[in-house]
Amino acid sequence: MEEKALNFLEEIIENDLKSGKHQSIHTRFPPEPNGYLHIGHAKSICLNFGLAAKYGGKCNLRFDDTNPTKEEMEYVESIREDVKWLGFQWDGEYFASDYFQQLYDWAITLIKKEKAYVCDLSQEQMSIYRGTPQTPGTESPYRNRSVEENLDLFERMKKGEFPDGSRVLRAKIDMANPNMQFRDPVLYRILHSEHHRTGNDWCIYPMYDYAHGQSDSIEKITHSICTLEFDVHRPLYDWFIEALDIFPSHQYEFARLNINYTVMSKRKLLQLVENKHVWGWDDPRMPTISGLRRRGYTPASLRLFAEKIGVSKRDNVIDVGLLEWCVREDLNQTSQRVMAVLNPLKVVITNYPEGQSEELDAVNNPENPDAGTRKVPFSRELYIEREDFMEVPEKKFFRLAPGVEVRLRYAYYITCNEVVKDAAGNIVELRCTYDPQTKGGGSPDGRKVKATLHWVSADRAVDAEVRLFERLFSVPAPEEVEEGKSFVDHMNPNSLHVLKHCKIEPFVKNTEPQDHFQFERLGYFVTDKDSTPQHLVFNRTVSLKDSK
Ligand code: ATP
Ligand code: MG
Repeated sequence: MEEKALNFLEEIIENDLKSGKHQSIHTRFPPEPNGYLHIGHAKSICLNFGLAAKYGGKCNLRFDDTNPTKEEMEYVESIREDVKWLGFQWDGEYFASDYFQQLYDWAITLIKKEKAYVCDLSQEQMSIYRGTPQTPGTESPYRNRSVEENLDLFERMKKGEFPDGSRVLRAKIDMANPNMQFRDPVLYRILHSEHHRTGNDWCIYPMYDYAHGQSDSIEKITHSICTLEFDVHRPLYDWFIEALDIFPSHQYEFARLNINYTVMSKRKLLQLVENKHVWGWDDPRMPTISGLRRRGYTPASLRLFAEKIGVSKRDNVIDVGLLEWCVREDLNQTSQRVMAVLNPLKVVITNYPEGQSEELDAVNNPENPDAGTRKVPFSRELYIEREDFMEVPEKKFFRLAPGVEVRLRYAYYITCNEVVKDAAGNIVELRCTYDPQTKGGGSPDGRKVKATLHWVSADRAVDAEVRLFERLFSVPAPEEVEEGKSFVDHMNPNSLHVLKHCKIEPFVKNTEPQDHFQFERLGYFVTDKDSTPQHLVFNRTVSLKDSK
């Protein structure tokens, strides 16, 4: 058997286990609950949970909720749901806010060690004092406050004596360090704002860099995996652990997932939701996990995608076609086939007796013989797809046309004899004859036809609404915009097509949201959450083939 090469994280972990550095590994997935998860997070989830599973370790779910103004319980719940839906179960569930007291105590330790101080510079002044990567910064005039004064001021910050933005707690490191992260980074800011879990207990909140690594350490995370832009933060991550002499978690960085024709930052996705450019976070066109789910993506297809893109240390952009390929791979194996006509054109079989009908055998899933067969009703009046007929066929159009014979899938050969039009000249009906000898789709005399069409029986078909989607953005890199423009300007105005008068074989009558189907010749579809027995609604997940 061919062995898959280890990715760089697996190599690190295997070495750590072999050398005895760790007996077992512990990872975490640390979302900030300020939005719904997207496909980029799915990569991180598959990676963190996947590594823990592969090496018999553990993986926590940790909500990085240090920013009270942007976080909500709705997001926490959606994150739990999405991780579970992807097929993963976390070991511990934690909130960074669980650690606020410990983080505060550690800040006091740093003050006592003369490694932190209260600074009264305004944000503007602070950024001037920081210098630039080429020029060293300037030390704050508050840098040499005594331990006593710092302890007093920090406590009063906590007690709420000072207004927002008036003071911060900073680490005392090195204002000349070429790594800007070391230029006395802010540890705490004052924010008189209610937190979704701690209410009004706190009015000082820890910054990401101070909270994240220490939370890892509290949970004894061995491998803290994050995206590449944090590599410049790693020395600071290590500095805190050393200064506090706490469990030595280590940070490792991998390339974040980028996909073309979409945007992926939560801030931008929130903007699409708030400004009603989409129906909500779970709009089937959104790259969110909930949107992909509603679109008909399966957990297996997203896990397959994560496996295919792999893990690397170099940023790149993945073609959205790969994501579509993954869902086709999965749904081709698993989905129930049915016939559906999206844009119906009536066909009357003139030599089929009125009032008669029959049930024909159809295969449920050719990829899975265990899925068996079903009965599809056939009768004198049928519907076919309007675009499967041309009155004056173009070159290379081999489907139905006057005088042409085609096969109806699982049924008979039919020939079109007459085109019926309304007063305005629109085609309203085709009158055809069928050959009873061709039942099941073959002809005893070996006569060949060039096309096989899907169809439904008019009297037994169920009505449905079907939604077809195009890409939400019309350019490959919507985030690259000219001055004064926004990524919103690159939205595709035709990303949604709603077809209200579709006809589907009766098999789907009792469908429930999240049932997956292949509508023969049209693609993979999923029953939408808006669907009711009185009004069926389906979303197209993806067409059968890449249109490119
Ligand atoms: P966004 O910029 O979209 O808001 P984020 O990084 O701020 O994303 P977090 O909630 O902080 O979102 O991320 C939780 C975890 O998911 C982090 O470990 C982060 O590195 C990872 N992650 C976020 N986006 C991606 C992505 N595009 N590809 C891979 N991992 C990602
Ligand atoms: Mg973030």
